[in-house]
Amino acid sequence: MTTIRLHNSRTRTKEVFTPLDANNVRMYVCGPTVYDRAHLGNARPVVAFDVLFRLLRHVYGADHVTYVRNFTDVDDKINARAAQTGRTITDITDETIGWYHADMDALGALRPTVEPRATEWIGAMKDMVAELIANGHAYEADGHVLFAVESYAAYGALSGRSIDDMIAGARVEVAPYKRNPMDFVLWKPSSDDLPGWESAWGRGRPGWHIECSAMARELLGATFDVHAGGNDLLFPHHENEIAQSCCANGTENMAQVWLHNEMLQVEGKKMSKSLGNFFTVRDLLDQGVPGEVIRFVMLSTHYRKPMDWTEKKREEAEATLRKWRHATAGLEPSEVDERFIEYLADDLNTAGAIGQLHWLFNDPSYDKSMQRRLLASAKLLGLMSEDLGDWVLTKEITGGADRVVMDLMSQRFQYRQMKLYDMADKIRDGLHAAGVIIEDQGDRYSYEFSVNFDPAKLEGLK
Ligand code: AMP
Ligand code: ZN
Repeated sequence: MTTIRLHNSRTRTKEVFTPLDANNVRMYVCGPTVYDRAHLGNARPVVAFDVLFRLLRHVYGADHVTYVRNFTDVDDKINARAAQTGRTITDITDETIGWYHADMDALGALRPTVEPRATEWIGAMKDMVAELIANGHAYEADGHVLFAVESYAAYGALSGRSIDDMIAGARVEVAPYKRNPMDFVLWKPSSDDLPGWESAWGRGRPGWHIECSAMARELLGATFDVHAGGNDLLFPHHENEIAQSCCANGTENMAQVWLHNEMLQVEGKKMSKSLGNFFTVRDLLDQGVPGEVIRFVMLSTHYRKPMDWTEKKREEAEATLRKWRHATAGLEPSEVDERFIEYLADDLNTAGAIGQLHWLFNDPSYDKSMQRRLLASAKLLGLMSEDLGDWVLTKEITGGADRVVMDLMSQRFQYRQMKLYDMADKIRDGLHAAGVIIEDQGDRYSYEFSVNFDPAKLEGLK
């Protein structure tokens, strides 16, 4: 069985991955707060951890992996959006979830096994909050319930900070009812105009962190294998999730392995509305950038490195995918390449894995076996699927072009044997003009479709 190694943020080392239960490998990824279109940065964890999901399914079997990604549909930003627009909260969250699905589908991301909405698990959150009060890790103050960070000795272990350092670094205004400035909200009161649920602590709503702890416990258990998200979530969100879960469940770990992706930038700068370089996934799709190309660019950088979205990378990715799709049109995938899997299993080295695909493409074997392996491997990365292929007009080429080119090549061969060189060269020039690259090897010949291949130009040659 393939040995997977993952860089664990919790231990700060790359470790061999051993699931708690190989029959049910469990992963949780923090999902979006749903009030607006996902921007390109939001797509990075989705694509990166979709590759992990695919790799785990490949290694342990598709039915032996459970992937949970939540929708945060109760949040002050959503409330603010509702107040601004006069729309209902459900209207906004339903619409945004629909957009999210459409946009992430377009990037070839598989849907997680379960996508819980926070508002559907309020009961589980209230239970967990009550347990934390009962076992002395939380307290009620001024209508709020707060987690007492000093009650948990390991608080700060994930992010590697002490509570004192955190206080020194915090610029937040400290609420007077907090025992320690770093204590965080588990439950807060709601006024009548805000979403709220009845509870032992009055009508209110959950704090942000408790939802992931409660839903992860309900859907994956007290401890599970992988928890992932962007590195902006490491502190405080993931630190707080660990505190809540470990204190409520009496466990040492929430997840065995914690993975964090680095941030996405645009042309070397932080993506921000004020710099004018902010765009959503939908903006790019609407401009005609194929989802598959966005995915390819994302995967060309390792998830733990900052990634830069550039126009140049987009162009190169498009040319590469076009070339690969032409070369593999009509072929059946064979086995996934072993070297390719080794790259992926090495802490999701997608950049190395793509390098291996280039290597397979460049192998000059006559029988296209490498191309078939390229296809199988690329599919494991979520590339070269039929779903994402419309932009290359593969259907035009499939079956058709290969036959036509082969016929023309053998015609040329016959002309050459008959010493009708003018006729032979005319075919060669025509093929060149259509973007077919011909390689003569004595009396054998091979060809490949270049990036500029245009099947329409073959028409006049037949
Ligand atoms: P949010 O909806 O803001 O909670 O973000 C959803 C996910 O997107 C989280 O996992 C964030 O860490 C991630 N994220 C946000 N901005 C970026 C970015 N610029 N690059 C990569 N990931 C990001
Ligand atoms: Zn979370």
